[in-house]
Amino acid sequence: MNKKYDVVVLGAGPAGLTAGIYLSRARQKTLILSDGPVGGQMILTHEIANYPGVESISGYQLANIMKKQAQSFGCEIIANASIQKMELMPLNKSFVLDDGTRIESDAVILATGGRSRTLGVPGEAQFKGRGISYCATCDGDFFTDKEIVVVGGGNSALDEAVSLTKYASKVTIVHMLDAFQASQHAIEEAVNHPKIDIRMETVITAFHGEESLQSVDLKQLKTGETEVFKTDGVFIFIGYVPNTEGFDCCLDLNERQEIVVRTDLSTNVPGVFSAGDNIDKLYRQVTTAVGDGTVAALTAIRYLTEQKK
Ligand SMILES: Cc1cc2nc3c(=O)[nH]c(=O)nc-3n(C[C@H](O)[C@H](O)[C@H](O)COP(=O)(O)OP(=O)(O)OC[C@H]3O[C@@H](n4cnc5c(N)ncnc54)[C@H](O)[C@@H]3O)c2cc1C
Repeated sequence: MNKKYDVVVLGAGPAGLTAGIYLSRARQKTLILSDGPVGGQMILTHEIANYPGVESISGYQLANIMKKQAQSFGCEIIANASIQKMELMPLNKSFVLDDGTRIESDAVILATGGRSRTLGVPGEAQFKGRGISYCATCDGDFFTDKEIVVVGGGNSALDEAVSLTKYASKVTIVHMLDAFQASQHAIEEAVNHPKIDIRMETVITAFHGEESLQSVDLKQLKTGETEVFKTDGVFIFIGYVPNTEGFDCCLDLNERQEIVVRTDLSTNVPGVFSAGDNIDKLYRQVTTAVGDGTVAALTAIRYLTEQKK
């Protein structure tokens, strides 16, 4: 079966859903095609408290509202799709699904988001969102007056550890190496902070708890000593991976594998735009993804209008 759209939006997170709302409302025949469930990373968070206009909402609820809003304007959504083949060329933008459906479009918005690098130790998946977080801006407030652990030794780990002292009563930084890989300023701020304690050459080997996280197993790499360390929360900042696998065929990516975009969110391939956590940018939030989705959709509409002249 062959299907033809004005725009295919790849990814159903806040960036993709917003693009779907703007495109469909502008009468562009739009398909949101996602390899995961609708909502993207939003559905990993039980409470979003920093989305303007909504005092507090679960990520799942917010995703559902965005989905219904996009569909109300005629946007089609295929979630949990298995995409077998993809072409992102100036004159050929197409996708083939595992049931053989071939989807073509005049423009594509890549809104494939990203994922935090994980430690990959037992209990991490179980306590994700129940004591384990990868986002201080999102979840710091939930740990007011609690004792927490920050994992990592780069700039983001140290900066976020310092910023988390606004909420937490104590922050223990756990870093696997014998030195931090951060700027001197970030190191001095963290090391000299009265609420911060530091464990170098130490790793977490397991997470434990019941409903939520209660403790971690720590291992000192030099001595081999192990310890059960009680904690209310663990923030992990050991890097971020954009979902751009396969895009290096045709798109300019930077050294972090993020898509390089212009300010109007166009890419180096005519008719291909990108939005959200997969692009080269500083701040990754629902609000920034929503803003990117808007810009990419408006630029795509302008591109399609010019093509039709
Ligand atoms: C635990 C957690 C809590 C958070 N809490 C908050 C918060 O409180 N407030 C806040 O503002 N932000 C929060 N964030 C950050 C926020 O969720 C992200 O910045 C935002 O979801 C990014 O939106 P996006 O649309 O760019 O990408 P994503 O949300 O990552 O969505 C990407 C979509 O693309 C799909 N996809 C990926 N690759 C492909 C592919 N190759 N083909 C097709 N589809 C693909 C995925 O399945 C997904 O549907 C949190 C993040 C996490 C992980």
